[in-house]
Amino acid sequence: MLEDVVLQIQNCRKCRLWQTSIYGVPGEGPVDARVMFVGQNPGSEEDKTGRPFVGRAGKFLTKTLAEFGINRERVYITNIVKHTSPENRKPFPDEVVACLPYLAQQIAVINPKIVVLLGASAKEAPRVEGVRYFEVVHPSAAMRFTKMREKFRIQIAELAEQIK
Ligand code: SF4
Repeated sequence: MLEDVVLQIQNCRKCRLWQTSIYGVPGEGPVDARVMFVGQNPGSEEDKTGRPFVGRAGKFLTKTLAEFGINRERVYITNIVKHTSPENRKPFPDEVVACLPYLAQQIAVINPKIVVLLGASAKEAPRVEGVRYFEVVHPSAAMRFTKMREKFRIQIAELAEQIK
């Protein structure tokens, strides 16, 4: 059950990151989502709200998805690591290892057709047979750099085609 995973994350003490976070950010979206988006870890806006991708990059992602006919409410959005890190540093390898089983559980429960990996760090997501993996530029890079934005838009257009 997805709710069990949420509860486990909210009470998790498997790595140090819970100590410097306000909320765990398990992810959100329908349990029957066909597409799952996976980022690296929550940022400060996500930490304040307990919701994934609600900061500037998240808003940019939501807007770009909508432009290509993908409704954010129909996809599941989560991260490799479920608590934010101090100064928004990259999660340490032991934190990734400690947290990955939650993502594996979410993939097993939701059973998406496609997992979209947002940026290079999301490549650490566990691979599951029968699931297609689709790598795209991270929305924060797409927001900042024109070339990356063009590439991101092409990738999201391709994704939209694939899930028609
Ligand atoms: S980041 Fe993951 S492993 Fe670490 S405390 Fe949070 S939920 Fe647990």
